Amino acid sequence: MEPAHGPGDALDRAVIFIGPPGAGKGTQAKELARLYGVPHLSSGDMFREHVSRGTPLGLKAKPIMDRGDLVPDAIVLEMIEDRIARPDCRHGFVIDGFPRTAAQAERLSELLEHHGMGKPVVIHFVIDRGLLMRRLTGRRMCSVGGEIYNIYDRPSKVPGRCDNDGGALIQRYDDSEEVIGPRLKAYDQQTAPLVAYYRRQSVLRDVDAAAGVEEVTRRVMKILRNAR
Ligand code: AMP
Repeated sequence: MEPAHGPGDALDRAVIFIGPPGAGKGTQAKELARLYGVPHLSSGDMFREHVSRGTPLGLKAKPIMDRGDLVPDAIVLEMIEDRIARPDCRHGFVIDGFPRTAAQAERLSELLEHHGMGKPVVIHFVIDRGLLMRRLTGRRMCSVGGEIYNIYDRPSKVPGRCDNDGGALIQRYDDSEEVIGPRLKAYDQQTAPLVAYYRRQSVLRDVDAAAGVEEVTRRVMKILRNAR
């Protein structure tokens, strides 16, 4: 598929976004996937969809998400394996929120090999904790299309309404101050070690994620061009 305003070349690989919650991974992943015309895979979005549909998986995941803990690997892996197996992922995809544990990272490597996808590019979002708190507490999400806003840095044109579809903007329950702490702890303990794992494989690139949305997109695209 040719993207309408794409960078002019195909992605043809998996791009993995890694970084703490609130670093901007979801916003950037959506934009990058749009520019390259590839699917955006977000384990968090998939879980939220299950929760809103009230599926058995959603019922299992909801209390865990509300505590700020990680959903068990077996559940996450089954969901992600099914998604990556779909044909639309064959020309590359952008994935955020996965992997979050060593077991998930190992399995993702196996899956990429199994589907003949070669080495991924892993973009590590580097950002300080002060800015992270501002992004998390200010984040609002469209209840219809999932578009992400921030009341401080990226407000919608009409307060409380999505620019794209007019949907009501909501605050994620797990962006409340009491859940942010456990989420950051889960990141530090279980996900941050993956930075070293991917650095050892020479597939990791750091991006300074403190800049505005468009600037970070430019930086990520530059990394992808240079990683060819
Ligand atoms: P996110 O939208 O990426 O911040 O994810 C929201 C919540 O979904 C997390 O706090 C976890 O409870 C759960 N979750 C999303 N992705 C994963 C994953 N790869 N492994 C375990 N839990 C996950």
